[in-house]
Amino acid sequence: MSPPSEIRVRIAPSPSGFLHVGTARTSVYNWLFARHHHGKFILRIEDTDLERSDPKMVEAILEGLRWLGLSWDEEPYYQSKRFEVYPSYAEKLLKRGKAYHCYCSPELLKQKREEAIKEKRPVKYDRHCLHLSDEEKKRLKGQAVLRATRLKVAPGETQFKDVVYGDLSYDNADIEDFIIMRSDGRPTYNFACVVDDYEMRISHVIRGNDHIPNTYKQLLLYEALGITPPQFAHLPLSLGIDRSKISKRDGAVAITDYRQMGFLPEAVVNFLALLGWSPGDDREVMSTSELIETFSLERVSQSNPVFDIEKLKWMNGEHIRSKGDNELVPAVAPFLIEASLTTKLGVEIRWEYMKKVVGLLKERCRLLTDFAALGRYFFTDKFDYNPDGAKKHFFSPDIDRHLATLAERYSSLQKFDLEAIESGLRNLAEELGISAAKLIHPTRLATTGMTKGPSLFEILEVLGQEEVVKRLRRALEFIRGNPGLADRTDSG
Ligand code: GLU
Repeated sequence: MSPPSEIRVRIAPSPSGFLHVGTARTSVYNWLFARHHHGKFILRIEDTDLERSDPKMVEAILEGLRWLGLSWDEEPYYQSKRFEVYPSYAEKLLKRGKAYHCYCSPELLKQKREEAIKEKRPVKYDRHCLHLSDEEKKRLKGQAVLRATRLKVAPGETQFKDVVYGDLSYDNADIEDFIIMRSDGRPTYNFACVVDDYEMRISHVIRGNDHIPNTYKQLLLYEALGITPPQFAHLPLSLGIDRSKISKRDGAVAITDYRQMGFLPEAVVNFLALLGWSPGDDREVMSTSELIETFSLERVSQSNPVFDIEKLKWMNGEHIRSKGDNELVPAVAPFLIEASLTTKLGVEIRWEYMKKVVGLLKERCRLLTDFAALGRYFFTDKFDYNPDGAKKHFFSPDIDRHLATLAERYSSLQKFDLEAIESGLRNLAEELGISAAKLIHPTRLATTGMTKGPSLFEILEVLGQEEVVKRLRRALEFIRGNPGLADRTDSG
């Protein structure tokens, strides 16, 4: 088959209330393929099941796609707004003798199905209505019995070349005359899908391999309608995310939950892209533009990838670090605001400060939520001292004298820059005849409440002279307010 002139792919979610991770992965593949080929990425909402569809659910799907940055082309299509399109295709099939009306009631069909199961026969429609006499049909029609429309499946074999799985085939004898139009006038999934993929000029259908059985049915429909099918590329399912419940440990099911958990959309796109595809070298951390440039369906693997949330976290950390501080601030800000550490206005007016803070912390963060957890002290001095750290570093001999002297030194510095901060502390340690560590640890605890973190001198520079001196003095009060501590210092 010669390549179609325009690449047009689609994602066709059924509105289930959120964008499922599995659907998000399929969306990523379709989107990357479209962008790589400068084609179109179409969004089609499969909402023919009116009872189960709700505009709120559709909005949740759009929000998920928007968050991931998977922009769609053209206005989204809604199958529920296309109900008038499908009957004419069914008519065409009826006229050509490729389809027929079925008057069997659901109760009768159920009964026949149960009998077949009991007798260990394949469960398949028995074509009762295909063989109705004209008179019988007239009678049923006259009685206004509800009727569905079934495809008359031709004998033979349905074959196709899947872009991922190669040559596939299925015996039509194992496919029943499936319903294409329900008795209430709504199309079934397979029928609406074929009509829409055809009308929307879809060149490639890229979807999970759990749809392969549907593909055979859809190919029968293309054949019966006398239209050319698109190319099919089925994706290996990722265990844990597709169709099966994901456990809390593995991660969440709704893509927007990942936003709340502190993931960057570009990291999620990167991770999902690698769930079944690889660039052909050992690259793992890739920007979205690198993914677009490298993506090809030929490199989609046939084996089921494993969804590993730890790997996603690692990858997120890498993406965090690859961002410039100016870009990182808006990504981190909502989490700091959520933790009540700052406000929208606070972020705007202290942009330079925010940049320094995220720049200092990013080495240690895997999730955007880590910034709030690890960097509280940049926004408030209302923190407790790490208890183990306090026992170790605030209870050492002469500590209050040492910290008091450091506070004094720091308060008299003309310029509070990295060099002055570091040499101020190191010189004092030398004068006091102690190692620099003996000052560094208690100073870190006094100014951050923590025992670990980014370079202390850089933290102090960002906090600023006034704040650092204030915090050292506050720690002194704490130390002096502790009687146990006073005894120890006197003996030192
Ligand atoms: N609505 C179907 C689903 O969500 C679409 C499958 C397809 O891509 O054809 O599974």
